[in-house]
Amino acid sequence: MIRATSFEGKSVAVFGLGASGIAAALSLRDAGAIVAAWDDGIPGREAAIANDIPLVDLSVADWSGFAALVLAPGVPLTHPEPHWTVKRAEENGVAIIGDIEIFARERALHAPRAPFIAITGTNGKSTTTALVAHILRHAGQDVQMGGNIGRPILTLEPPQPGRFHVVEMSSFQIDLTPTLAPTIGVMLNVTPDHLDRHGTIEHYAEIKERVVLGADIAAVGIDDDFGLAMMRRRINVGPVVAFSAEKSIAPGYSLLDDTIVCNNREGLAIKLGSLTGVATLRGRHNGQNALAAVAAVRECLNVLGRSTDLDWQGALSSFPGLPHRMEEIGRIGKVLYVNDSKATNADSTEKALKSFPKDVYWIVGGKPKAGGIASLEPYFGGIAKAFLIGEASDQFAATLDGKVPFERSGTLDEAVWSASDAARMSDGIEPVVLLSPACASYDQFRNFEVRGDCFRGLVAGLPGIEMRTVP
Ligand code: ADP
Repeated sequence: MIRATSFEGKSVAVFGLGASGIAAALSLRDAGAIVAAWDDGIPGREAAIANDIPLVDLSVADWSGFAALVLAPGVPLTHPEPHWTVKRAEENGVAIIGDIEIFARERALHAPRAPFIAITGTNGKSTTTALVAHILRHAGQDVQMGGNIGRPILTLEPPQPGRFHVVEMSSFQIDLTPTLAPTIGVMLNVTPDHLDRHGTIEHYAEIKERVVLGADIAAVGIDDDFGLAMMRRRINVGPVVAFSAEKSIAPGYSLLDDTIVCNNREGLAIKLGSLTGVATLRGRHNGQNALAAVAAVRECLNVLGRSTDLDWQGALSSFPGLPHRMEEIGRIGKVLYVNDSKATNADSTEKALKSFPKDVYWIVGGKPKAGGIASLEPYFGGIAKAFLIGEASDQFAATLDGKVPFERSGTLDEAVWSASDAARMSDGIEPVVLLSPACASYDQFRNFEVRGDCFRGLVAGLPGIEMRTVP
């Protein structure tokens, strides 16, 4: 655990007692801060009681003595309107921070040179973060990974020289980290998302840019206009490396066919590893994630004065991937089963349909998003048959009508059985049963993880299945 020593002896309000809020309260309490924790919900308050964290009803508390409000990232800071705790903090001149700010302060106090790689972007954050951690571990380094992925940051081991902290950051977390200054700040891409919580795309992009602004070295994806503009602004003020999955850039990291190449300032092209045959990094979007990860690790080792002569290929080829993201889970003969339950909108499903261009037995549906699957029409030619589930069935049937054969399976279990039977009859070389719902899961499942786990369970029960074992 990382103790919040910078708050020793100070009073701190903590609001939002999910996993990261509880970790923050424990980190503060164990460092000798006086904690006043609160949550609107009973489960959060019960978790505090179970952990011996002092509860104080912040709606009636005296705020004048608090040194800070530690806010959970899910609580609105600005949009659609500031939460009541935010208003109280502002009225009383209390700083509003998140758990990653506590980490940043501890690092600055006790191990300011400890390697810290912060990763953000609209899409690909988790994949890139997991891949950075994997490459470093493959190279025998001491790695702590957390933040918006896996464990709350304050439950990790503390920063120290030679220990790498690899941290995924959502824009909400960045907004709560005013002294963010990583060794490497990675910004993957910016597309409209969460605008209900950030107002405009410009405001959202400005928050993402903070990962780059405070970094010793900025690593910026330049395949969208926001990233390109960030790179251009950064060039004038500090070190920056660019990466592009769409074009060859020099200097910078790009793909030559499927090979990751670093073009350096001297005009030398260094080939680092190929993505050909790496099933966990299929698709151009994962090319961008792999470029970002390789660039981040290589630049970090460089800045630490360490050798960059790693087994890049071995590291890429052994990446186990993340569950629910185009995850190959098993095979029956030539039929491949892929769990892409994380694809909760058409944009994400587009990545899967691009990666599996033919003989797709597509399980799709759930709670539909605005626009449905109309934008996926360019990929309909690769779909052998669609199996519709959940609330979206009528709407998606209308979109597919006359263009793609489909059936209304209704439930996931029906869909898995029907799709599996149909795929086994296919003449294709590698028919794919793909769960990529392009919908939220809430009509039939608690969340996308439960939906993906259910798919995995159903596939595991099919006769003749050989489940993939993670390398
Ligand atoms: P995040 O943590 O940002 O949500 P993930 O790595 O979990 O991202 O990937 C979630 C989904 O986003 C993937 O299933 C894929 O559809 C899409 N995706 C992943 N990486 C990228 C990328 N670099 N560009 C565009 N879309 C991506």
